[in-house]
Amino acid sequence: MGIVEEFLDLKAETDADLLAMQVGDFYEFFAEDARRVGDALDLKVSEKSSHGSSYPMAGVPVDDLTPYVAALVERGHRVAIADQREDDADDITREVTRVATPGTLLEATGADARYLAAVVRDDGWGLAFVDVTTGQFHVTDADGEADAFTELYRFAPEEVLPGPDLRGDDDFLARLRERADATLTLHEAGAFAPGKATHAVRDQFGDGALDSLGVDAGSPAVRAAGAALAYVADTDAGVLASLTRLQPYRADDHVELDATTQRNLELTATMAGEGEGSLFDALDHTVSAAGGRRLQAWLTRPLRDRSELERRQQAVGALADAPLARDALRDALGDAYDLERLASKAAGGRADATDLLRVRRTLALVPEVADALTTDPALADSPARDVLERVDREALAGVREELETALAEDPPKTLRQGGLLCEGYDDELDALLAEHREHREWLDGLADREKERLGVTHLQVDRNKTDGYYLQVGRSETDAVPEEYREVKSLKNSKRYTTEALEAREREVLRVEEERADLEYRLFEELRDWVGECAGFLQDAGRALAELDALASLAEHAAANRWVRPELTEGDALDIEAGRHPVVEQTTEFVPNDARFGDGRRFQVVTGPNMSGKSTYMRQVALVVLLAQVGSFVPADSARVGLVDGIYTRVGALDELAQGRSTFMVEMQELSRILHAATEDSLVILDEVGRGTATYDGISIAWAATEYLHNEVRAKALFATHYHELTALADHLSGVANVHVAAEERDGDVTFLRTVREGATDRSYGVHVADLAGVPDPVVERSRDVLDRLREEKAVEAKGSASESVQAVFDVDSGEFAEAEADAEGDGSEFESALDSDAEAVLDDLRDVDVNETPPVELLGKVQDWQSQLED
Ligand code: ADP
Ligand code: MG
Repeated sequence: MGIVEEFLDLKAETDADLLAMQVGDFYEFFAEDARRVGDALDLKVSEKSSHGSSYPMAGVPVDDLTPYVAALVERGHRVAIADQREDDADDITREVTRVATPGTLLEATGADARYLAAVVRDDGWGLAFVDVTTGQFHVTDADGEADAFTELYRFAPEEVLPGPDLRGDDDFLARLRERADATLTLHEAGAFAPGKATHAVRDQFGDGALDSLGVDAGSPAVRAAGAALAYVADTDAGVLASLTRLQPYRADDHVELDATTQRNLELTATMAGEGEGSLFDALDHTVSAAGGRRLQAWLTRPLRDRSELERRQQAVGALADAPLARDALRDALGDAYDLERLASKAAGGRADATDLLRVRRTLALVPEVADALTTDPALADSPARDVLERVDREALAGVREELETALAEDPPKTLRQGGLLCEGYDDELDALLAEHREHREWLDGLADREKERLGVTHLQVDRNKTDGYYLQVGRSETDAVPEEYREVKSLKNSKRYTTEALEAREREVLRVEEERADLEYRLFEELRDWVGECAGFLQDAGRALAELDALASLAEHAAANRWVRPELTEGDALDIEAGRHPVVEQTTEFVPNDARFGDGRRFQVVTGPNMSGKSTYMRQVALVVLLAQVGSFVPADSARVGLVDGIYTRVGALDELAQGRSTFMVEMQELSRILHAATEDSLVILDEVGRGTATYDGISIAWAATEYLHNEVRAKALFATHYHELTALADHLSGVANVHVAAEERDGDVTFLRTVREGATDRSYGVHVADLAGVPDPVVERSRDVLDRLREEKAVEAKGSASESVQAVFDVDSGEFAEAEADAEGDGSEFESALDSDAEAVLDDLRDVDVNETPPVELLGKVQDWQSQLED
């Protein structure tokens, strides 16, 4: 069978999009695959003929495969890799050894985690998140689809495996495609079956794993976990070894941050999708990739457990107060490699000598890190010190010693040519090295010995690929060459010879070199497997270093930006003195503001002109609470934060529309979700919600939502609105207060003070903005006039053409002008008597309505009724 035929056969067996097949020193793509890879990666495509046909062919050298596979997977391809196995020279077999997919790509480097997710819907929802590059394996349940999306958004997986029950759900799949920027893969349904999945989980983590972690066999979470394991095994069985721990969590361990909130608060990316300008970007001073990953995870998974938060706070505080020790710690951590990933690579049988060398160098830093943590007494008693107590330092030292005796200092890139290991590591290897040395010495001395024996001066011994070892003698002296010299090549100025003894030595050298390379490879594999077996505690060590890096980063930021440690309480307190926005304060001369919740002000209506700082203020409050529940210090002079169970933010559809994302429908779905999900312990931020529809619709919805949040949900809430009408709620609802962002108008100029003050804003600046924008003076003046009249609930005369003046009354309830003939004479009673009985009834009704007692939605209904009665 020809190579191309073999390729096509293998390709037919896998469900991957592309196949890279090893042929000698290259991985080749043939036929259609060659063309696609050639286009995607700008590889040269040549022709290969086989059995009378000609096929496109593109290839990459064996040692260079990694970046190509990574690039193809980044483009969303699944790439199967078929390796060749040489049992003996004539019998080469090839088989697919792994499939690289977006969620199982081992080639990942850099700070970002790379998650594969499996999602199951049964009675409840179950989710599993696996990062094969670091061995992270999280599982959880969720109460409903929205909660499932919360978790999906937190982990931002590269690839999602929907369970069989979700595949027919087009709505879910569509939302998944929209919300998660992930490849969807329909993995074999059987893997999700309760029995099979439970078995897979027990197989991987031990029989007792489920019980000891309090996870039920056959539950949706376990089905998701089992399916994820099966998929990992399917794409590459070797990687399973890197998954050493199952880390179940409960959604209520974390502060609920639904997908929209995570996006609105710009935790790890801005609304525009940029990393720069995000909270993480502003805060990140980590010095290692793993530390950055940890800090990101903390920001998207804030906690509710006060003791754990206070532990982090203490560590951050101690590190913030010990700049020298912090510097020493960060110096040491900065030299660390990504131990979590390296351990996984070793466990997956994929680490090369450089990788193990990096493990060794990182382990050598552990004592340095420990020193940094002990020299300063302030740190010695802090929880920062405890982080390192959790790792098995003795076991780590054991690995380090083994690697120190084993690994050569500067190993070659390939594993097949020897030079990986040190002398003294293995007796058999030492014997080969000694033998090699003896031959080398003989060869090295040969030229001198022959020069002396033959009495010549131009003789040297050398080696090249075609001639092997040879003796080279200058032309002028070739007469002195003895009988046993056999000429192998004649050059212009010299001749090359060999002898039987030299040939024998050469054979010996080659044999020893080959044996050495084979032996070193075998020993290296054993060493790698052994390190792979240590993956569990190596990963723990990596995680500890990452945690220290993240803590030191928070400390660094707190110290540099005068952040303070917030007091955490269980109650519903929220008092922030001189709070700032953590991101905006980095680039702006920021005006600090207080926030005080509590009695009579659980719900605050925030008013103020456009661009005055309403949105910034509310986000700042949300971010201070979030940072407090990350265990971080916060941007404020002081803060007391009652722990929240969730933070919910919504931005009105108009602002969202500017981002090209949302519709009024979505805005309402999201509002509905908050009204359902938020509790007394939540923080709710509503920014211009209701804005996506007609004014009176919007007011009514905002009004009713406020009542509901205040009366039923009782959450702490901030509601920025340009509906001035809402400020009236403070008079009627005991927990509602008004605040406004102040602006000053002097001589027709508005200055934004950025200061939040008590009470509602006294005027709308919309007309002023119209003026600033260059709207013609007559229009601006007329607007002022209309506004004043509307405020006083006076009739406004609609200006028609001069000849036909029309009188109209603006009805604040319906939002419409009720028209009347301008020439209708007399007062109201005359006007009224001209009406028919239907209209009379409407007016009676209208008189009876108590505007203060009737909810706006009901009012709206009444107005509609009246209108239809009048139309009849
Ligand atoms: P609004 O929501 O009221 O329209 P924004 O919150 O969007 O206003 O703020 C408008 C601008 O003012 C933003 O560019 C923001 O950076 C700036 N800003 C807001 N609050 C402050 C503050 N306290 N100090 C300094 N600049 C601020
Ligand atoms: Mg705003």
